[in-house]
This record gives sequence, C-alpha cells and structure tokens, in this order.
Amino acid sequence: MAEDCVFCGIVAGKIPSSHIYEDEKTFAFLDIAPIARGHALVIPKTHYRNLLDLPEEEVGDLYKAVKKVALAVKKAVNAEGILILQANEKAAMQAVFHSHTHIIPKWVDDPINKVLSEFYHHAQKPERSELEKLAEEIRKHF
Ligand SMILES: [Zn+2]
Repeated sequence: MAEDCVFCGIVAGKIPSSHIYEDEKTFAFLDIAPIARGHALVIPKTHYRNLLDLPEEEVGDLYKAVKKVALAVKKAVNAEGILILQANEKAAMQAVFHSHTHIIPKWVDDPINKVLSEFYHHAQKPERSELEKLAEEIRKHF
C-alpha cells in the first residue's frame, strides 16, 4: 500500500467505495464522477503506478477481471457497448497514479460519442513507407 494513495485506501477499506467486484488480485468499484451511468474502475489490489508499471504476470488476471466487470456493468445498465479506457501517465490524462481501467457503458446516441468523434478528427494519414519505418523502430524495443 502506498501512502496517500486513494485507491490503496479504497482496497484497504479505509476510504468508502461502491464496490462491485473483488477477487484475489483485483478490486472494482463505481467511479465517484461517472461520465455514464455504471462507469466503473477496475484496479489491481497491489499498488502499481499504471499498466506500464504492472508486472507482466499480473496483466492476465487484471484483464480477466476487466472483462467480467464489463459484462456485469453492461447487463446492469442495459448498455449497448462498453468503452475500456486505460490512461498511463499525466500526458495521457492519468489523474490517480494507481493503475486503473475505466469501464464506461456506451449507447449509440449518448453524448460521449460527440467527444469521441472529435478525437478521430485528429487522425493523420501517413504514407505506408512512413508506417513501415516506424513499425521497424518499434519492433526494436521488444
Ligand atoms: Zn495505490
């Protein structure tokens, strides 16, 4: 448990949460500032800064829980889809530095789609050769 970490406090039961799921390694609860009804967060019980900091052997357990929670939330609020959002570091708009995955219920006509379509307006159109060069650079880092 990290000192002053709100999510560690929630896992420890020191900070109240509307808890919806728990297993040996993961914990899930409703976001207190939901952008949709049923917006939930799935976190590892152990403090890791974000997904990039999570040990590889723990990723599978976390994402099994993400899927379970996503299905339960989808049924509970009768959503038409689920957006999974996982931010890593401040530049990616991570605000709480304990790894967390957002489960966001979606409907075809909900207001979030306007924001998401704005996001795709920033899509670039690189040449294939540029993509190949970048792919080669990325492959060097595995
Ligand atoms: Zn923490």
